[in-house]
Amino acid sequence: MYNQVLITGGAGFIGLNFLLYCLKKYPTSHYVCLDSLTYAANVKEIEQLVAERKITFVRGSICDYSLLTELFQQYHFDCVINFAAETHVDRSIADSYAFYQTNVMGVWNLLEVCKQYGIKRYHQISTDEVYGDLPLEDDRCLKEYARLNPSNPYSASKAAADLMILSYFKTYQIPITISRSSNNYGPYQHMEKFIPTVICRALNDLYVPIYGNGKNMRDWIYVTDHCKAIDLIIHKGIPGEIYNISTEQQFDNIFIAMKILLDLNKPITLIKYVDDRPGHDLKYSISNEKIKNTLGWTVDIDLEDGLKRTIQYYKNCIRSQKE
Ligand code: NAD
Repeated sequence: MYNQVLITGGAGFIGLNFLLYCLKKYPTSHYVCLDSLTYAANVKEIEQLVAERKITFVRGSICDYSLLTELFQQYHFDCVINFAAETHVDRSIADSYAFYQTNVMGVWNLLEVCKQYGIKRYHQISTDEVYGDLPLEDDRCLKEYARLNPSNPYSASKAAADLMILSYFKTYQIPITISRSSNNYGPYQHMEKFIPTVICRALNDLYVPIYGNGKNMRDWIYVTDHCKAIDLIIHKGIPGEIYNISTEQQFDNIFIAMKILLDLNKPITLIKYVDDRPGHDLKYSISNEKIKNTLGWTVDIDLEDGLKRTIQYYKNCIRSQKE
């Protein structure tokens, strides 16, 4: 357990879920959430945690070196977990500037302050997208030492950060760990992402857009299973190591969309195929053998259960918006 924890990007989808997970499991630790509150942030939920005096919130950017220095001087962090990132592939294709600023230079800032002030653990939230894609018929699950082969500006910025972090371990012995997870879903995800889009558009009887032929395959992990994995890695993971996090089950987009429509009792005629994303990765598939065998991680929430919980969350959101 760490005493002073800096969670960057803690207002975002996974960061907020992780904050809530930690507040429940380690309520005596002090959490500072640093987030610049981009369009993707969950402001209301953070305001609530601040009002309940559960966290300290600082609005600011990981690109602001002097702010980071002030925070490290004030709080003497023993653990930093970096969720802060620009995350939407489509936005990175339209304009990648902010992606390289935050996802690369922001990480450089964090590493530099960790180097200057010392830290027990720096953990980077990375992604399976750094490995690039596999052909649809390829049934391999890529391991942590697979070649990095990113396909778009977002995944390239994340891969660049991973390499920089590994070099800070080797050169400066900063105790880092990296986790590369597959696609997350669950509460607090921004509406622009695939599963929230399908659920919310279907609930409003709007057409559901599917890129290309809908055959692209993803491995979907419920967000609290990801949080549990991060918890294990920051406490038991070995510095310098990378851990993949996945369910080792892949589903194509059309299957997910149809499943949601079926659960919502909506017609599949709502599905509309739209122009494919440039460079759209076909299939991500990563092995979870290492984290299972070395840290004892398991998947608790399967797709059936996870989708039910997620649908209920977005139904509640839409209901409370209407009230
Ligand atoms: P998100 O877009 O929901 O949240 C990102 C958060 O970072 C937002 O609150 C935003 O305000 C904040 N932020 C952005 N730029 C910042 C900056 N310069 N300084 C401080 N805060 C900043 O993203 P997410 O889906 O929660 O993803 C979190 C991390 O997990 C990212 O690093 C992402 O690459 C990684 N990841 C996500 C998935 C997924 O399926 N969502 C899968 C694997 C890995």
